[in-house]
Amino acid sequence: MGAADCLRPKSGSSSDPIHVVHYAKINRMAEEIKDYEVVIGLEIHVELNTQSKMFCDSAVSFGDPPNTHVCPVCLGLPGTLPVINEKAVEYTALIGLAVDSRITEVTQFHRKNYFYPDMPKNYQISQYDRPICDGGRVVVEMDDYTRIVGITRVHLEEDTGKLIHIGKGGRIAEADYSLVDFNRAGTPLAEIVTEPDIRSPQEARAFAQKLRSILLHLGVSDCNMEEGSMRCDANVSLRRQGDAELGTKTEIKNMNSFRALVRALEYEIVRQYELLETGDRVVQETRHWDANRNITTSLRSKEEAHDYRYFADPDLVPIELSRAWVGALKAGLPELPDAREARLISTFGLPAYGARFMTQSKAHGDYFETIMDHFDDARIAANWMMGELAAHLNASNRDIADSPVTPEDLAEMLILIKDAVISGKMAKDVFKEMYETGKAAPGIVEAKGLKQISGTDEVAALVDRVLTENPKAVEEYRSGKKQALGFLVGQVMALSRGQANPGLVNEALRARLPNKAR
Ligand code: ADP
Ligand code: MG
Repeated sequence: MGAADCLRPKSGSSSDPIHVVHYAKINRMAEEIKDYEVVIGLEIHVELNTQSKMFCDSAVSFGDPPNTHVCPVCLGLPGTLPVINEKAVEYTALIGLAVDSRITEVTQFHRKNYFYPDMPKNYQISQYDRPICDGGRVVVEMDDYTRIVGITRVHLEEDTGKLIHIGKGGRIAEADYSLVDFNRAGTPLAEIVTEPDIRSPQEARAFAQKLRSILLHLGVSDCNMEEGSMRCDANVSLRRQGDAELGTKTEIKNMNSFRALVRALEYEIVRQYELLETGDRVVQETRHWDANRNITTSLRSKEEAHDYRYFADPDLVPIELSRAWVGALKAGLPELPDAREARLISTFGLPAYGARFMTQSKAHGDYFETIMDHFDDARIAANWMMGELAAHLNASNRDIADSPVTPEDLAEMLILIKDAVISGKMAKDVFKEMYETGKAAPGIVEAKGLKQISGTDEVAALVDRVLTENPKAVEEYRSGKKQALGFLVGQVMALSRGQANPGLVNEALRARLPNKAR
């Protein structure tokens, strides 16, 4: 696929004014840019949800008062010694096993030296040439093709603290002063690095979503991009179609949603294209995605590995990862998204897109399977999850795991539709109320008097009345105007204030309206 295809936006993909301008530009550019190939590699950091930090027993936390989960070790006080969190090593190896990495025999921690006020030791304990996991791949299904993204490595390091810039805009440049919270300092952080195998912003998003789903199925991180427990840095370059050598890349940081990842890449592709086309060159650097302005800005010129003066941490011995330990981890791997997707298709007859929707996170699949414990039509269950439920969750910015409508309650409502107690149309109102109040469907149906009119006699009475009151439509139908039936159905539905069972209404009308038009 060329750069042109990957940039062509889906129509109506945004209504926000800045982005409309941005898209107009991309649209124009898509035609011209097709001489280039887009090359993307991602570096994804995830905070592991262990109980304690990477090298001490302070708790891993989020959102607590600043500097309440700190100790001499994660504050880097002199004379303290780190102790490796075994669970974090295990989680990192699990990630590696899930992405087909080789788990190395001996792994080691190195010091990455640099100064920044969010890092109390002036070095970060990270990994260098002996990461826990080496190589690997993730298969990414796009709409009409498959992209296999190579994994370079998965390694383990510690997170930094958090700086809070006080003053205009919250950016460091305009800040009057900055505060530092070390609660996050020392949180175990796994870094997953891909090969430069990704060819469009859409593929980058699909990869990141797939990886997130894998991590959620493993249960090693909560992968919340907004809260920063999953962070995607994107490296991107352009090269002329057919060129063997990669172009000069830039690295973009600070995208806190999948949408931001796509937008930042799109922006950066256009920026690089304009530089290359005007005979300028791309400068290798780290750039900052500014989500308010929809642009990337230069953050710092690219540092090289030797700038960090990596050396083996003398306080930590190399660790041998025995094959028995690796084998036991592998045997204990939970069901992963690909296997689950296949199982949902074969067990429930879900269409592929439905199965993919259900495996976007562990919580989605669990929700669906809980519905199916009580209800037997997988397609209907899937349609409600992808339709009403997803829309409500989106609008209230909630995760499916925190849905006020439980899967059991949704199943109960679906059974009411199936038994024709309520119509599909009424069900939308019932669902809305369930979502807003957390109440179950039967109570709402009762309280609102929403029960569908499914008694044959009741429906017949309504139909008779409508036929008597609409002789003209009846005549039209008899003379062959089929549309008149729709009108009459509408009249009956209106008369019943929407509560008549439309299937029965149709049947009753047809039975009383012989015959010509059929
Ligand atoms: P660095 O020396 O900047 O750390 P690496 O070679 O370690 O670069 O790669 C970091 C990330 O950038 C990886 O995900 C890799 O796939 C990606 N990458 C490397 N070169 C390019 C390039 N020319 N264009 C796009 N991505 C690249
Ligand atoms: Mg590197």
